[in-house]
Amino acid sequence: MPQAHYLGAVMRRRVGDGVRVFNAADGEFDAVIERIGRNVADLAVGMLTRAPVPEPDCWLAFAPVKRDATDLIVEKATELGVSAIFPVFTAHSQTGRVNIARLTAIAIEAAEQSERLSVPALHEPVDLARFLADFPAGRHLFVAAERRDCPPLANVSTLQPHALLIGPEGGFAPAELDGMGQHGFVTPVSLGPRILRAETAAIAGLARMLAAPDQT
Ligand code: SAM
Repeated sequence: MPQAHYLGAVMRRRVGDGVRVFNAADGEFDAVIERIGRNVADLAVGMLTRAPVPEPDCWLAFAPVKRDATDLIVEKATELGVSAIFPVFTAHSQTGRVNIARLTAIAIEAAEQSERLSVPALHEPVDLARFLADFPAGRHLFVAAERRDCPPLANVSTLQPHALLIGPEGGFAPAELDGMGQHGFVTPVSLGPRILRAETAAIAGLARMLAAPDQT
């Protein structure tokens, strides 16, 4: 189990050391290491230190970009509080490869760093048509569309559940934007007058959707 390796080999924790453990359903607890090996650790779980709290139900979908920028998107989306992350391949996607195990490790570290009690679900990549076909009823999708006459994200309701979709560096193809606009659950939105890098667009959009007092 990677966390046991991290505790022993990276953090150099030993038997008797205290740690904190958490999950979204039960909250966070004090714990003491009773046994630690290369890939396994036994912990004696003690007092509850933080009770579970309701978390926002906001998804991020994005067209994967270069590796460092994709890593940044996953890290910052986790810190901001998304509940699920979907890599989505579009007509102008720059890469066809996404390492979900690596991105999950980044999300776990970002969740720990930001003191979240949950880790967002990292979904296997799908193409845009499949993502839209599988999109669940009752959830709303805001599509970040530069160079179109759309309302600012700040001006549209972000009542949950909802999702934000960010395009690749080359932007969405016009036919993709036209096609998405046909779905009743889609609202194309602007993130301001400037053309942002995909990672900036993801962070700026999520900050708007997740920082409002009614989003906690
Ligand atoms: N190549 C495109 C162009 O020059 O028009 C720019 C694409 S932008 C670098 C990458 C993605 O970020 C876009 O597909 C869009 O989803 C989002 N984005 C960037 N700036 C935006 C803005 N001002 N409003 C809405 N979305 C934006």
